[in-house]
Amino acid sequence: MGSTRRDFLAMAGGSAVALAGGKTFPNPAQLPGHAGGENVNSGQRDFSSVMVIAAHPGDAFFAMGAPVAVATHSGGQGWLLSLSLGERGSAKIPADQYGELQRQAAEKGAGIMSAKALFLHYRDGEIPVNEEAKFAVCDFIRENKPDTVVTHWKGSWHKDHRACYDVVQDALFYAGLPAIARKEPAHTVKRLYFANNWEDANDFVADTYLDITAVCDQWLNACAVFPMWRGENGFRYNDYYSSLAIGQGCLSNFQRAVSLMSAEDQRVRRIGTP
Ligand SMILES: [Zn+2]
Repeated sequence: MGSTRRDFLAMAGGSAVALAGGKTFPNPAQLPGHAGGENVNSGQRDFSSVMVIAAHPGDAFFAMGAPVAVATHSGGQGWLLSLSLGERGSAKIPADQYGELQRQAAEKGAGIMSAKALFLHYRDGEIPVNEEAKFAVCDFIRENKPDTVVTHWKGSWHKDHRACYDVVQDALFYAGLPAIARKEPAHTVKRLYFANNWEDANDFVADTYLDITAVCDQWLNACAVFPMWRGENGFRYNDYYSSLAIGQGCLSNFQRAVSLMSAEDQRVRRIGTP
């Protein structure tokens, strides 16, 4: 019997995950090449409290929001931190006005997912990689104490996204280091994932699939409050991300799923002798 891509997905990294309340297909054993459910639920705790950290609110909600909805759905907490309001995203609406629309949408969308919207106010297109930004993100992490952070993958054509990746890497380090004295004590984030974002696709390799079936409608409703969701600024986010959830679900044997990429140091597995 030949190995299939599905075998590979089930074995690669041992990190396919599902949450209680999510639905798998009724009889997965009937699917050709399905390797069984040994990995399902193994990563459940990763998504009990989730902070997403994005360059722009659209990224936080469209590319990273579903894991937040999973966290709150299972009784945990979720935060969506945007480093900028993405206020320069509209060709028609002046930046000041558009930034306010984005902020309002983020507040409302977070409410729909029973999560909290957080903001830093760097200018869209000018997110810096500096100590101020790293410590500002560090402070949000220490204050809220998420177990898991989801952020941008560095393989992006967008400079703000690459800046966010760099800022988050060092912010996580600062947050976890007790010798760095801030207002709040040190907090170590247990898991770091990168989101599957159409703008960050260079060398992105998914290794983790999260079942979002139970929260998919809620997450899409939260996305739909944004003024650019339906292609108003040129890219049809609604079509792309709702279709992606279906496609990733097909690959992972869930009805709906998001795929994520683990941070490099989390790909190490330890296997003892039985
Ligand atoms: Zn962006």
